[in-house]
Amino acid sequence: MDLNFTDDERAFRAEARAALRAEVPEYIRNTVRDERPLPRGWMVEAQQALNRLGYAVPHWPAEWGGRNWSPVKRAILTEEIDRAAVPKPLAFNVALIGPVIAAFGSEAQKRRFLPAIANLDIWFCQGFSEPGAGSDLASLKTSAVRDGETYRVNGQKIWTTYAHEADWIFCLVRTDASGRKQQGITMLLLDLATPGITIRPIATIDGYHHVNEVFFDDVVVPLDNRVGEEGEGWNYAKYLLGQERTSMGNVGLSARRLERARSMAEASGLIADPAFHRRLTLAEIELKALEITQMRVVASASAPGGAVDPKVSILKIKGGELLQTAAALLLETLGPEALTAGFAAEGLDPQSALLSTYFTARKYSIFGGANEVQRNILAKAVLGLGAAA
Ligand SMILES: Cc1cc2nc3c(=O)[nH]c(=O)nc-3n(C[C@H](O)[C@H](O)[C@H](O)COP(=O)(O)OP(=O)(O)OC[C@H]3O[C@@H](n4cnc5c(N)ncnc54)[C@H](O)[C@@H]3O)c2cc1C
Repeated sequence: MDLNFTDDERAFRAEARAALRAEVPEYIRNTVRDERPLPRGWMVEAQQALNRLGYAVPHWPAEWGGRNWSPVKRAILTEEIDRAAVPKPLAFNVALIGPVIAAFGSEAQKRRFLPAIANLDIWFCQGFSEPGAGSDLASLKTSAVRDGETYRVNGQKIWTTYAHEADWIFCLVRTDASGRKQQGITMLLLDLATPGITIRPIATIDGYHHVNEVFFDDVVVPLDNRVGEEGEGWNYAKYLLGQERTSMGNVGLSARRLERARSMAEASGLIADPAFHRRLTLAEIELKALEITQMRVVASASAPGGAVDPKVSILKIKGGELLQTAAALLLETLGPEALTAGFAAEGLDPQSALLSTYFTARKYSIFGGANEVQRNILAKAVLGLGAAA
């Protein structure tokens, strides 16, 4: 079954499909397709190619490179990026901090950061979570105390993806602890080269280095690096989390992985196993259902920056589950070899890469808002359960 796209949308899909394959080098796309880690320089190269095509920040305001495309068109682009095995533009830059700076930053911040963020000349990471402040983010304790024309920042962030690759970090810090916990939070931009910042890797089960702890020991931050007003950080964080959500289902990525699982199973003969075949087919059906749901949510989406449709929680849960299923099916195509796959120290052999992908997929239930929390949102905002009597 094909979805009912307009002629214009179909033409755009074909144009994007061709442009992505022509402009993003094959060695980058092959590495992504093989599920191997990309060197930083290749991620930058890929994003710069997307930026040249006008594909890096289509959802931004037009004066900063936005394209005024419909949410459906943007979702088509995201799907094609994943299908072409092109690394998506760095979410911390283009989906999170970029739109916040465009909406609330000073003119100087916009000029300094927005073009560099779009082109990945500056790499941002996200310093929100802390030990004791994940799902309950407003409990964060990292403090920023005014000292003349600067803040002095002390505290710790955790699970900071790519802090070891990044140039800057956007942080929520506490500038006032006297009121409700959502008050007194401020958003700061910190240059990671500032003295007093220490980054420590966290070892994860997949063998990659993605996440870190970041410590702040009397770090001096100019007032000019504050986004918007002091004490308004919670509102900016809500705006940030309500940004580009059209790719929450990761439809293109699951499609690519399921197609690969099918072709590997055909090559190895595993496809003749009825139990495997059934699970693969079920996953493919679920993917089609997810694609339809995603397009329905996307088509009714408000403008970027508007209220988040609580139904995106369905995309987050189902999209993550499908990525986990696809990773498991891919691993199973290795048969008993999967048991002997280990993590190579330098680069990854094909077996290890699939084992890593399987373990990495565990994170989809946790980051970006844990699934239990997404279910709470659906229960309250969509099903109307648990409303005050
Ligand atoms: C791989 C990875 C990358 C990440 N990258 C970043 C990053 O770059 N920057 C950043 O700031 N953060 C990042 N995070 C942090 C992520 O946002 C948090 O892990 C997430 O919000 C959950 O918080 P927590 O780990 O403190 O778990 P907790 O909030 O302590 O949750 C523990 C368990 O309790 C459940 N739970 C919590 N509250 C409720 C509730 N109200 N109702 C029902 N169940 C509940 C959760 O679902 C979970 O199962 C990353 C996390 C991971 C795993």
